[in-house]
Amino acid sequence: MAAPGHRGSPVAVLAVAAALVVSSCLRPAAAEQGEDKGGEEEAQRQQRYNFRFVRHARDAPLVSHFNYIVVGGGTAGCPLAATLSEHSRVLLLERGGYPYGNRNVSSEYHFADALADTSPRSPAQRFVSEDGVVNARARVLGGGSCLNAGFYTRASGEYVRAAGWDARLVNASYRWVEKELVFRPDVPKWQCALREGLLQAGVTPDNGYTFDHVPGTKIGGTIFDSTGRRHTAADFLRTANPRRLTVFLHATVSQILFRHREGSAKPVAYGVVFTDPMGVQHRVYLRGGGKSEVILAAGTLGSPQLLMLSGVGPRGQLEKHGIRTVMDHPMVGQGVADNPMNSVFVPSPVPVTLSLVQIVGVTRFGSFIEGVSGSQFGIPLHASGVRRRSHTFGMFSPMTGQLGTLPPSERTPEAMRRAADAMRDPIFSYGSHLLIRETWTPVSASHLAMEPSLRISGRCVRRTYSVTAHHGRVRPDVAAFTSTVAAPLPSCRAAAASPCATAASVADSPCATASSVADSPCTTAASILGPLSTGHIELRSTDPRANPAVTFNYFKDPKDVERCVRGIETIERVVRSRAFSRFTYANATAMDAAFDRAKLANFLNLLPRHPRDTRPLQQYCRDTVMTIWHYHGGCHVGPVVDQDYRVIGVEGLRVVDSSTFKYSPGTNPQATVMMLGR
Ligand SMILES: Cc1cc2nc3c(=O)[nH]c(=O)nc-3n(C[C@H](O)[C@H](O)[C@H](O)COP(=O)(O)OP(=O)(O)OC[C@H]3O[C@@H](n4cnc5c(N)ncnc54)[C@H](O)[C@@H]3O)c2cc1C
Repeated sequence: MAAPGHRGSPVAVLAVAAALVVSSCLRPAAAEQGEDKGGEEEAQRQQRYNFRFVRHARDAPLVSHFNYIVVGGGTAGCPLAATLSEHSRVLLLERGGYPYGNRNVSSEYHFADALADTSPRSPAQRFVSEDGVVNARARVLGGGSCLNAGFYTRASGEYVRAAGWDARLVNASYRWVEKELVFRPDVPKWQCALREGLLQAGVTPDNGYTFDHVPGTKIGGTIFDSTGRRHTAADFLRTANPRRLTVFLHATVSQILFRHREGSAKPVAYGVVFTDPMGVQHRVYLRGGGKSEVILAAGTLGSPQLLMLSGVGPRGQLEKHGIRTVMDHPMVGQGVADNPMNSVFVPSPVPVTLSLVQIVGVTRFGSFIEGVSGSQFGIPLHASGVRRRSHTFGMFSPMTGQLGTLPPSERTPEAMRRAADAMRDPIFSYGSHLLIRETWTPVSASHLAMEPSLRISGRCVRRTYSVTAHHGRVRPDVAAFTSTVAAPLPSCRAAAASPCATAASVADSPCATASSVADSPCTTAASILGPLSTGHIELRSTDPRANPAVTFNYFKDPKDVERCVRGIETIERVVRSRAFSRFTYANATAMDAAFDRAKLANFLNLLPRHPRDTRPLQQYCRDTVMTIWHYHGGCHVGPVVDQDYRVIGVEGLRVVDSSTFKYSPGTNPQATVMMLGR
């Protein structure tokens, strides 16, 4: 059993003795979208790190030489570069900018804002898979760890054995990661209820707080500290040898250079070409010695894409784009998968604390249950009880691309835009969130069941709003939001956040008291093990900045559908559990509707009816599929890289990142990606 430390213990900041000034050439890079203008504290924090070696690509020499060139300063690339710099001269090339000072990266409350930012300077680059599911990939130093929901959990022992890894080294590397970056979360009451509910629903045993991936219910680690500040893979760079590491930001690698060495039949990688934002090309060469290498850590989309752009990939595809074939490698870009996520919105009659993923239920049938509470992730509640109403971006909103209320094929940019516009409507100013698919549907009796009512609870007056109530009809072609969101008066907040009805069951649990209150809708999401359904990545163009075409083939394998169905059924049991009763409506109108199989597809989400389909939950899984952003594969160990992560068929080149995974490790992959980098 892993022995996780307590929140706050791994305070790396303290370990850094000298307050060294960040290179002045970094300042423009820090001025990214979402920069926290008042982020003095953050600026001080970064200045404590010895990051003089991080520079803007425009300041890079036109030609340079290093022992190792790491492409991609992400979740794997940062620990990898830091580790290699202990003994060698290393160059880390990252196409994105600096994460520090960017509120959208550093604050838990702005989780959704980073994903909603689709500007060219955003740390998140949106992509839409050929399946129609909107997704995001990182474009920032620290990679996906700058965007993710923070949940930290190791891979299972079985996974480690199957990968053929040295368990001792794996554990030592996980521990290194955990010492630097991982915290124990303060678990708010809604998450406590989820935990108890999972146990009551049979997702047992109770595994307490652990990083281990074992069946049952557990509290995992997080990369957010007690103030909600994110710690990212970029923080690993403070462990680097500053004399041996150079990092260039805004450096987009467009090609790996290959040549033929005398006496070797295999092409040998000897350098890379990267472009700075001014369009100037720079060349970096490996210097001396057979140990020098180019190492790709550009992620699931980036690494296969770069291999193909450099002539290593399926010949037919390379020729289609006029790329000279260095090595015909049919399996590059194959076996790409994304763990599907299906969510159930659970309107809560009481306001709940904002939380990202903290509790996970690992079922024995291959479904993982996670939950987030407080839909308005952009709205921190201040101590005064007055909340800033500057955002209405929930985690599951059209702004973030998580539009599970339309089947993937209908998630057009137009539908997304209309949905986003609808959400900006003042009527949603208190938040929203049961998303429904719109048609000119007259208000029906079942809609009325969720219509506004004035609820009085203690001193709190709570109103509920819905579009149907306001307009009498649901708007045409607009994903609309019907809602049972509570808007308690500020003075009622304390009362609203008072101990929950299930206090007896949670009192002894290691859960914290709610400290802040957000909006009431909560989401429980099921994601699945594996998955077994896989797809592929193909080049769309030769532009390294453009997204390749990605097909995940969600639910192609019937076993994945079955896992999803059983996951949703488990959520149903959780929501109906005694432990969860405080967070569901007493008359259960909404939940009845949500879980009434007959109504599920046409009421909660107004998804297409499938009248002859006797398996509505299966259809629900397909129609509401979203991403949990755990995509992986494309450079599998075996067909593309060998057991030491060397690209088969060429020399001097490895891939070390999530693209090498056949299955996603644990319930959430970042721990294992970081471990691999180490
Ligand atoms: C919104 C979101 C939520 C998530 N939630 C969780 C969670 O709660 N827990 C969890 O464990 N996991 C979570 N994940 C998944 C996890 O973060 C990823 O699996 C992990 O970050 C992948 O790491 P990587 O090193 O493979 O790729 P990345 O971290 O994406 O790193 C790749 C890097 O390469 C750079 N790059 C790409 N191409 C080039 C190029 N041509 N030149 C230069 N640089 C390039 C990119 O800019 C990027 O920084 C989440 C992910 C997202 C996006």
